[in-house]
Amino acid sequence: MEFLTDKAQPVNRKPMTFWERIYLINIFIGMWITLKHFFKKKVTVRYPEVERQFSENYRGMHILNRDEEGRENCTACGLCALACPAEAITMEAAERLPGEEHLYREEKYAARYEINMLRCIFCGLCEEACPKDAVYLSQSVVPASYKRKNFIYTKEDLLIPFPKKETKE
Ligand code: SF4
Ligand code: SF4
Repeated sequence: MEFLTDKAQPVNRKPMTFWERIYLINIFIGMWITLKHFFKKKVTVRYPEVERQFSENYRGMHILNRDEEGRENCTACGLCALACPAEAITMEAAERLPGEEHLYREEKYAARYEINMLRCIFCGLCEEACPKDAVYLSQSVVPASYKRKNFIYTKEDLLIPFPKKETKE
């Protein structure tokens, strides 16, 4: 018989012995493995009552940052969206109008800024690409939901009320 690859294995059609047919030995082996795990250190925690400490490098949900005067840092330059390998970021730019200087730091701002958390792979490239210290990945976990639309985070969801103190090196 000719095989397409050298990985093909012929099926073993040998009749089962008496001990193989009653499965007792395999059941005892399985129970022995289960019993051994009773006395081992647990690898799971009782989430959500118990939460694991994340590593300092953990990348969770995004935040949009403000400056010291509370103005939005983002200038809608689009670099984060361009850097995003998952195409998770969508934005629309708008021009700052006279009298809006207390809201937006630069002459352009993001009138719409959305991140699709279902697409995001939390790689942090958007944070790296941003020249304005505007987008960061926080340590918060994106909450679970049964609805897809709940994973589209808008600018209002992402903007933090106070400026993030830590700056990138
Ligand atoms: S963390 Fe990565 S995948 Fe998620 S929005 Fe930023 S660049 Fe895109
Ligand atoms: S978050 Fe940063 S990189 Fe993205 S559009 Fe705003 S200023 Fe540009």
